[in-house]
Amino acid sequence: MNSAPSSTPAPSLIDLAYDPALFQAAGEALVDQLTQHLARTQAGEGPVLPWTDPRDNLAAARAQLAGDGLGRPAAVDSVESGARRFGELVKLALARGHNLHHPHYVGHQVPAAIPIAGLFDALGAVTNNPMAIYEMGPWATSAEQAMIGELGGYLGWKDPEGGGIVTHGASLANLTAMLVARNRLLEGSWEDGVRGVASAPSDKSPVIVTQADAHYCITRAGGILGLGTRQVLKVPLDSRRRMDVTRLDELLAELARAGRPVIAVAASACATPIGAFDPLDQVAEVCRRYGVWMHVDAAHGGAALLSRKYRGVVQGISEADSVTWDAHKMLFVPALCAFLFYKRKSDSYEAFRQNAPYLFDPRAPELMDFDGGLRTVECTKRAMVLGLWGVWSLFGPALMEQLVDRTFDLARTFYEKLTDAPDFVALHEPQCNIVVFRHIPARLAAASNGVVGAFQDRLRRAVCQSGRFYLVPCVIDGVGALRCTLINPKTTPADLDELLDTLREFGARDAAV
Ligand SMILES: *Cc1c(COP(=O)(O)O)cnc(C)c1O
Repeated sequence: MNSAPSSTPAPSLIDLAYDPALFQAAGEALVDQLTQHLARTQAGEGPVLPWTDPRDNLAAARAQLAGDGLGRPAAVDSVESGARRFGELVKLALARGHNLHHPHYVGHQVPAAIPIAGLFDALGAVTNNPMAIYEMGPWATSAEQAMIGELGGYLGWKDPEGGGIVTHGASLANLTAMLVARNRLLEGSWEDGVRGVASAPSDKSPVIVTQADAHYCITRAGGILGLGTRQVLKVPLDSRRRMDVTRLDELLAELARAGRPVIAVAASACATPIGAFDPLDQVAEVCRRYGVWMHVDAAHGGAALLSRKYRGVVQGISEADSVTWDAHKMLFVPALCAFLFYKRKSDSYEAFRQNAPYLFDPRAPELMDFDGGLRTVECTKRAMVLGLWGVWSLFGPALMEQLVDRTFDLARTFYEKLTDAPDFVALHEPQCNIVVFRHIPARLAAASNGVVGAFQDRLRRAVCQSGRFYLVPCVIDGVGALRCTLINPKTTPADLDELLDTLREFGARDAAV
């Protein structure tokens, strides 16, 4: 097959695909369509999620891949037909996609991103400057290091003492932090594996300590690092769903008595279910007493550092040894862009200790800090930081402070609306922009937990599938609930009144069936 002449792509397609004229025509069409889409969506027109059965969307996506097998003709043969077809594909993608810029998007911890940040991302994508080594992505690497210094400064860990990396998401950042803590505590475990160094009986196996609401990626890290997920121990929560520090103290004392190595305590700022922040200064005090590595998963809440009004929620974060902070959440840039910070820069070299001399030149040690691949899971890595670096260069931290303040304030407003409404129950006072609640119409006032929980679930699905709002489900103490993250700065208090009315309307319809 491979040697058949017909399988060699026609050179004219290569010329067309790389033709700057096609790029320009398509680029103009893209900007036009996105501009109109953003204007409509931000004005609240059209659905939030245009709910479609995934099989229908799959069929539609497949239908674009015209023809079967090798030798099928291209769909376009000129700049004109290419630009036209490009425009149709963009239109389809926009019509079938989720509209996070709609003010009724109050769902997951994924923002209505600053639109212009996406243009900076396009710059990295079009020029394809990935960045395992400085030479391949010199500007992206420099922008990354500038942002590590800038954000690290809010932690009090400015270069040159503090260090960090950008990686594809908080899950990977947390994994990397746990790997560093493991390698440091269990000398030789990188080379010989955990078994090689911890040949002690299983009641002496090393553990990671976290809290009951911690993100699942911490438990996964235990599995991936060869500790076993059962060795990820969860400290119970206090009445506000924060790590109970007294119980942490007790657990660490018990582990010390049993002679079990503690790789790290991974605190949450905030944990995802209701957005509760662990009392970091108290956690730090306990970790210090036991000499344990303190990690803070501040994927969502790290941005509170940029708000003079709200930074109190992360009090004590600077005491940590490592911190995860997603820019693609509360710094409002498109996914993915996540930071991992180390208090001591040298720790960042503890994660991956082997050399790859063809990539990393030991003859130029002064450039080592710029070869990010020495310190990340990834080899090739997208130029992820350009969006953040770009908007920061345009607007500075002042924009971020406004975004944090507006969305955190809005959550408080929403909480007040919920407490004022007799048919709604807020399950907590918000510490950030996450609010969990239930709708309990009068007819369900005496219903069992099971009935109330199932109702929240049906209600959510009906509202989301109608396209009128997008919010997410949650289970608190075994009972279903509704969860909103106010992470679109264009959402207003009036939108939230409309949300409550929409839930009432669909709730009443639910009773009718
Ligand atoms: C979102 C989140 C994660 C997961 O982050 P990704 O970037 O999606 O991998 C982990 N921990 C916390 C606390 C989070 O909020």
